[in-house]
Amino acid sequence: MDIAQQIKSQLDIVRVISDYVPRLRRFGNRYSCLCPFHNEKTPSFSVYADHQFYKCFGCDARGDVFNFVMSIENITFWEALKKLAEQNGLPLPKQSQVSDEKTRARGALREMHEIAVEHFRGNLAGPNGARARDYLTGRGVAPPSIESFQLGLADSSGRALLRLLEQRGFRQEQLAESGLFGRRDDGTLYDRFRNRLMFPIYDESGKPIAFGGRALDPGENAKYVNSSETEIYKKSNVLYNLNRAKQTAAKIDRIVMVEGYMDVIGATQAGVAEVVAICGTALTVEQIRAMKRHSQNLHLNLDADSAGNKAAERSVKLLLDENVRVRVVELEGGLDPDEYCKEHGAETYRERIAKAKPYFYWLADRARGKFDLRDPQGRNDIFQFLLPAIQALRDKIERVSVANDLASYLGIESGLVLEHFRKMAADKSERASAPPKVNSKRPADRILLLSLLAAEEGRDELIQALRGVSGWNQSPAAGIYRTIVSMHDSGSAIAFHSLHERLEPGDQNLLASLVLDSEGGATTVEDGMACIEAMRREERESAARDLKGKIKVAEREGKLEEAFELMRQLAQMSETPVRG
Ligand SMILES: [Zn+2]
Repeated sequence: MDIAQQIKSQLDIVRVISDYVPRLRRFGNRYSCLCPFHNEKTPSFSVYADHQFYKCFGCDARGDVFNFVMSIENITFWEALKKLAEQNGLPLPKQSQVSDEKTRARGALREMHEIAVEHFRGNLAGPNGARARDYLTGRGVAPPSIESFQLGLADSSGRALLRLLEQRGFRQEQLAESGLFGRRDDGTLYDRFRNRLMFPIYDESGKPIAFGGRALDPGENAKYVNSSETEIYKKSNVLYNLNRAKQTAAKIDRIVMVEGYMDVIGATQAGVAEVVAICGTALTVEQIRAMKRHSQNLHLNLDADSAGNKAAERSVKLLLDENVRVRVVELEGGLDPDEYCKEHGAETYRERIAKAKPYFYWLADRARGKFDLRDPQGRNDIFQFLLPAIQALRDKIERVSVANDLASYLGIESGLVLEHFRKMAADKSERASAPPKVNSKRPADRILLLSLLAAEEGRDELIQALRGVSGWNQSPAAGIYRTIVSMHDSGSAIAFHSLHERLEPGDQNLLASLVLDSEGGATTVEDGMACIEAMRREERESAARDLKGKIKVAEREGKLEEAFELMRQLAQMSETPVRG
């Protein structure tokens, strides 16, 4: 067994996936949930404990435990292997034996970030950190937060981190690709972050992958500077603090989204642990999907200024499109969460979050202030204002229900304008989602394949028997049988995933539809043998029919010699005992 197989054999795919998707529901040996890889309202994502395999019948995402971790974390095979081994306390051979070039490069990036976190933290705690510490105290950031968010300080030398990493043996090209340095015209590198308060940015599993740096000098042009994108840091995939927020978010089924680093720290100190920040970037589908895995209920708490509102509108459209239930947190006085907590206290802030209005009501409140509802034209305008948001909903029934809700919320119970509004809300063209593929299922193939996969002991016997019949050549699953036989002959381990990955796409789907959806209990070698016997019988019957036909023709044509010979063959055939 190679190292990957060894590790895989000690893992349970259901447990690994449920770390990422907390809401797996069990149906016998199958587990199901909304697909983390595409947007859907009814679950078409299944995890099969028996086969240690997952498959989505909506977007066709599928594979074993490694494929899942690679896709969801966006990492290489070796990184997934290493991660799973570490998380589960499984021994791994030395790094050099289990990596490819890309993994090694990414490993160096991670190492540089870990060193940088410690370096910046040391600066903040040291004698030169006094001013930054004062700043944090002034902003109400308590020492435990400095510790848990691992805040740090980049000094103003412009080369301290560079020197340190050079001393640790990192090569210039590694440094250049770390996102931590800028390059001068003469090609030399310098620290990207100078005299800045440093916020490490973590991936979902809590490893530092980048930094955000806040200027400490008010004269500095850019208030915030971020690491440039690297092999391990894609801005659009990361939400600040999701690594910490996710547990609480899953538990209380709510995520609060704020604007920046300080808001996250402020909200966390106020007892709102389920908080993430977009940190100046426009919200992306990748971020929404990462968040959605932990909760579908999002409370938006973005800046109340007009820019905030525009950003909120864009984000909301995307969120509705992804079936996220959005509420808007309004803080009076246009304060951001951090300021609000300081002014009104943590409890009031938590109350504001708990009382956040569903997005559509919030939107209707805004519209109410803008238009005159007593006037038909005003009612028309208000509906035109609300319509785009309603039409962003995918589901027709939901659109109609939201339209009706809003009309009664606004106190508009009848009239032509309302009729028109309802019709517009309902009529928006539906985007069809692909129905799950249905394959013709032959029960015999299903049972035989299940027993071939399950029966470690009896597989040899089954395959020998299978060789003795040719009926399976006509089966839609012929390609699958051929692959199993050839894997068996070459001594490969036969399991669902190893078989699946050797098949053509068409056969992969057939295998999945035959084997994965079966809810029945264990299939034994005997069950498999019975299927092969049925094939043999069918084969014999078809040969007999063939002979009888030929005998008739020979008799009709007067070829008696030939007819007798054929009859002899037929008699012999029926004497051959049926095995069993
Ligand atoms: Zn999917």
